[in-house]
Amino acid sequence: MNNSENKQNICPICGSKTRYNARYENYICSDCVKLSTDIDGKLLEFFNIDMSGGYKANYKLTKEPYNSHICYINKNKCYATEARFGGIVVRLLEDVDDINIYTQLQ
Ligand SMILES: [Zn+2]
Repeated sequence: MNNSENKQNICPICGSKTRYNARYENYICSDCVKLSTDIDGKLLEFFNIDMSGGYKANYKLTKEPYNSHICYINKNKCYATEARFGGIVVRLLEDVDDINIYTQLQ
């Protein structure tokens, strides 16, 4: 049961086709992730803490830490976190089905 090669992921923000990922359906494409801001519209950037992963977010211009997983892309509320196999994955908050994240939201 492996027909994932024919599937494609569609970015929910801009509609562009990206590589399918069974674990992170409806993830947001890298071009849209670059538009991520905080609630006040300040640009953010995301990265892993080190080679083993982790999640860290900064304000892009000042490099000050941004201590939240919530970001906004084109007025859509999104959730950024470390991807299981490295990198950062960003999805619409409504698409994030892991209930555990809600305990992390402040
Ligand atoms: Zn996109």
